[in-house]
Amino acid sequence: MSLVVGVDIGNSTTEACATLVGEHGEMTFLSGALGGTTGVKGTVENVSGVVEVVRRALAAAGRDPADLAAVLVNEATPVISGLAMETITETIITESTMIGHNPDTPGGAGLGVGTTVAFAGLPDCAAGSAVICVVGAGVDFEDAAAGINAATLRGVRVTGVVAHADDANLIANRLREPVPVVDEVTLVDRVPLGMRAAVEVAEQGRTIRTLSNVYGIATVFELDPEQTRLIAPVARALVGNRSAVVVRTPAGDIADRRIPAGTLTLIGEQTKRSVEMDAGAAEIMDTLRRVRPLVDAAGEPGTHVGGMLARVRDTMSELTEMPVDGVRIQDVLAVDTFVPQRITGGLAGEFALESAVALAAMVRTSKGPMELLAERLRAALGCEVLIGGVEADMALLGALTTPGTDRPLAILDLGGGSTDAAVSSGDGAHSVHLAGAGDLVTNLIDSELGLDNLELAEEIKKFPLAKAESFFHIRMEDGTARFFQEPLPADAFARVLVLTDAGMHPIPTRHGVEKIREVRRSAKHRVFVVNALRALEQVAPGGDIRHLGFVVVLGGSALDFEIPDMISEAVAAFGVVSGTGNVRGTEGPRNAVATGLVVSHAAARAVMERALHIPR
Ligand code: ADP
Ligand code: MG
Repeated sequence: MSLVVGVDIGNSTTEACATLVGEHGEMTFLSGALGGTTGVKGTVENVSGVVEVVRRALAAAGRDPADLAAVLVNEATPVISGLAMETITETIITESTMIGHNPDTPGGAGLGVGTTVAFAGLPDCAAGSAVICVVGAGVDFEDAAAGINAATLRGVRVTGVVAHADDANLIANRLREPVPVVDEVTLVDRVPLGMRAAVEVAEQGRTIRTLSNVYGIATVFELDPEQTRLIAPVARALVGNRSAVVVRTPAGDIADRRIPAGTLTLIGEQTKRSVEMDAGAAEIMDTLRRVRPLVDAAGEPGTHVGGMLARVRDTMSELTEMPVDGVRIQDVLAVDTFVPQRITGGLAGEFALESAVALAAMVRTSKGPMELLAERLRAALGCEVLIGGVEADMALLGALTTPGTDRPLAILDLGGGSTDAAVSSGDGAHSVHLAGAGDLVTNLIDSELGLDNLELAEEIKKFPLAKAESFFHIRMEDGTARFFQEPLPADAFARVLVLTDAGMHPIPTRHGVEKIREVRRSAKHRVFVVNALRALEQVAPGGDIRHLGFVVVLGGSALDFEIPDMISEAVAAFGVVSGTGNVRGTEGPRNAVATGLVVSHAAARAVMERALHIPR
C-alpha cells in the first residue's frame, strides 16, 4: 500500500484527498482537507497553500508525513477572471434643485408650498405671502423658531422650513403652526432663493407621497406636459424618502442622461460582431452566442467599455506577467445591474439608482510554470510530485464517486471566478470555462445594496436574513420567528441581520429584508442560471442540453443554499437530472478534482500491475 495525496489547486481554494492505494489499484480514502489558494493558480506561489493542505489531510488521517509516497497535482491552467462595472445612466440636476434625503429626524409632517426666503429676509415678507424659510448655518434653533413665529403672527404664511443643522425637531416643536421641516441639508447656501418650492415630510414609518410622484410635482408647480417629462427623474430619485424638497427654477434642466457606454466588439473564430453596451446584457450575450468560440474582445477606445476592457487586461497582465497586448479574452459575461450613485447637483448627497452593466471577462493564460511548481513542491514536501491529468477529466472521475451517478455524466463546477462544465466523451473530456461565478455574485450584492463591504456581501450571499423585532426574538426571512433566552446584542436591535455561522451580523443599510433578499436571489440568478445553461449548452452533444443524462453540480458555490435549486429548476425544463454532487459519498460538492486525481492514479497503477504480470 502506498500513501498518496491528490491536490486540486483552484483559483480560490486548494483541496486535498489523502488515500492509501494498493498494488491492484484498490483505494482506501482516508481524509480530505481544504484551504485558501496562495497566489495565482498554477504558479510557484501556490507551494505554501499546497504544503498546508497536505499537512492537514495527513494529520486528519493520523499519518506520518514521512510515509507519504506521492502528491498528485492537477494540471492547473490558470483561468483568471476580471470584473468591471460601468453605469450607463446618470441623473444630473443643473438648474432645478431637489433635496431628497432621509435625515434621521425631520420635523413636522405634511406638504408645504411657497417661495423660498432666507431666514434673514423673513421680516421683509408681506403678510399673506406663502414662503418656505431657508435657515442657513449658524442660526440657532430658538432664534429660528422665534423669527418664524414672529412672521406668522404678522400674517406671513410660512409653509415649510429647510435647515442646515440637525435640529428640525427642535425648531418644529417651537412653532405656533406646525409645518414640515427638512434638516441636515449640507449645501443649504445653494438653495435658490425667491423660487417656488415644495417641502414634504412623511409621518414616521411612511414615505413621501407627493414629491415622489411626477404628477404630484406637476400639480404643485402647475407644469405642462413637456415640463413634467423633464422633472420625471426628480420624482424617481425621491421615491422611498421620508422627506424631500423640490425647488423649481426657470429653465430647469434635470437631465436623465444615457451615457453612451460604447461598443463592444466580439471577435470569434469565424466572425466578428459589435454590440452597443447600453443595449443591455441580454443583447450582448446573444451577440456572443453568434460569434462563439470567442478569440478576443475589444472595447471602443475612449468609451466606458474601452476603459472596462483595458482595466481587465491590465489586471490580467499584472497577475500573469504577460504583456498587456498578449492577453486574450476568451469569454465574457454581461450582467444588468444598478448602482446607487450620487446625483450630480444634489444638495444633500442624494442618490439615484442608475442602471449599469457589469462585465466579467476571462482569460486563459498559456500553461503556467507547472514544472517549476512541481519541483518546488518536491523540495518542500520531500516526496514524489506528479502532475496529473486535465482538470476537467479529473473532476469527472471524482464526480462519478457520487452515489447514484453513471455515465454519460456532465459536471458543472461552480467556483469563485469561473463556471466550468465538462462531459465525458469517447476521446476524453470536452470542457468549457466561462467567466462569472461566485465572486461576481458577491460583487453585485455589494454594489446593488451600496454596501462597499465585500466581506459583508459575501455573508449576505451565503446566509439567510432576519429582522430583530424585539430584544428576545427575530423574524426569519421565511416568516418564522425564533426566540432567545438571552437578549440580543444591542447593535442588532431593529436591524436586518445576516445569520452567519459565526453569529448574527447587522447590515448597516436602510433596506428591508425583502429588498436585500430580492437583490441576493436575483444576483445568483443572473450569474449562475445564465452561466449554467450557457456552459451545458456548449458541452452537450450537438449543443442540445436535452442530450445530457446526469448533471452533477460541484464547487464551492454548489454549497450555496439557493443556487443548486435554481439550476435544477432551469435544467429540469430540458428533462435533465441535476443535483449537487456528493463526492465519495461524504464530501458534498467539494474535493472532486482531488479525488479524481487519486482515482486516475490508482487506475494507472492497476493497469501497470496487470501489464507486469502478463504470463509469457
Ligand atoms: P475554485 O475552484 O475556483 O478554487 P471554489 O470551488 O472554492 O473555487 O469556489 C469558491 C466560491 O465558492 C466563492 O465564490 C465562495 O464565495 C463560494 N462559496 C464557498 N462556500 C460557500 C457557501 N457555503 N455558500 C455559498 N457559496 C460558497
Ligand atoms: Mg475548482
